[in-house]
Amino acid sequence: MSLMPLADAQRRVMDQVAPLSTTRVPIDESRGMVLAQSVAADEDIPPFANTGMDGFAVRAVDTTGASAESPVDLPIAGTIAAGSVADRPLRPGEAMRIMTGAPIPDGADAVVMVELTAVDEDDTTVSVRGEVRSGNHVRPAGDDLKAGTELFEPGIVITPAHIGMFATLGLTEVEVVRRPRVGVFSTGDELVVGPEPLGPGQIRDSNRPQLLALVAEAGLEPVDLGWLPDDEAAIEAALRAGAETCDALLTSGGVSMGDFDFVKTLLQRLGELNWMQIAIKPAKPFAFGTVLGTPIFGLPGNPVSSAVSFELLARPALLKMMGYSDTERRTVWAFTDEPLLRQRDGKTHFIRVRVAESIDGAPRVRSAGGQGSHQLSGLAMANGLAAIPDGEGVSSGEKVRVVLLT
Ligand code: AMP
Ligand code: MG
Repeated sequence: MSLMPLADAQRRVMDQVAPLSTTRVPIDESRGMVLAQSVAADEDIPPFANTGMDGFAVRAVDTTGASAESPVDLPIAGTIAAGSVADRPLRPGEAMRIMTGAPIPDGADAVVMVELTAVDEDDTTVSVRGEVRSGNHVRPAGDDLKAGTELFEPGIVITPAHIGMFATLGLTEVEVVRRPRVGVFSTGDELVVGPEPLGPGQIRDSNRPQLLALVAEAGLEPVDLGWLPDDEAAIEAALRAGAETCDALLTSGGVSMGDFDFVKTLLQRLGELNWMQIAIKPAKPFAFGTVLGTPIFGLPGNPVSSAVSFELLARPALLKMMGYSDTERRTVWAFTDEPLLRQRDGKTHFIRVRVAESIDGAPRVRSAGGQGSHQLSGLAMANGLAAIPDGEGVSSGEKVRVVLLT
């Protein structure tokens, strides 16, 4: 069986998933979700002219000629705190003490910052020690947004600043694309879950915690569906149950050529299998199908393979389900600080690397450790995957494309 180019496998998976329905959520739950409505300002922001500095509200003309040597004295006609308004307009020749964010009183057109003033002992007169122009430190109404401005379109990925803007505009809920619930299983009779000592031939289940964390890191909702034995009936029952409660399922193990690789045989029997042998290393075997209409990603069992398979195939598709149009990790070109050698085998190798910025600002990479698909420590030390095209690899000082994992 010939190997499928990665881009073809990615396209096949992407073509079979679609964004989920939309729902309303409280704004403080919306970070990382995709906005499914437009948002406009229905009032001016800020809603009133206010001061950007603590100081004194004045008429600019009343400060004409003021300097440190010949200050202008103005009577203090009141104090305006943030959250209150002046009880009367400012008259010519007066000043009002004003705090950052407080409304500019009628009659005033500038603020003298407190550092340019001195107040007499009985707190009735302020000496202004510098001239100010009309508009000085005044933040006009609508300075950030004018009423009626269309601010956000559907499709944006919501950041903390967007949430701040929603709150500013008085929105408490927004319409978003639902966050996929992603159920994660591990499979394999050799796996031990929990702290029990290992018996002969046993290893610990590292894929499930790792995949649950990758799901959460991508902003999706992880659902721990536990461990499954290498038993086709048990796997089938668990996948059907998981499909009822989740929007997508991830399994690890059981998709390669072994006698007990039942995830593959099961999906085959259900008639919904896309089993692929992808031209990449690690993570060559990959199964994709649906159970009761729910997409299921059959990731390979080796710990590095399951993580790389998640990165390259599941993550983009799950983000598409959450409404993202940009589903890719960032990539950079980086110079190698050492040779990254490999053998010609018809595959693109994703070598676990550490990317660091050098003194001249260009990123540089080194191998992060062991490159076997079972050597999770190498992945744990890595912050990138360097894509090395088929061939002998690259020597020191050459450029490689790196998928950033952070
Ligand atoms: P499989 O694809 O099921 O043949 O598994 C391939 C390799 O990955 C075997 O060495 C398994 O023991 C290992 N493996 C499978 N599942 C896990 C897991 N959840 N945690 C750690 N290693 C695993
Ligand atoms: Mg297995």
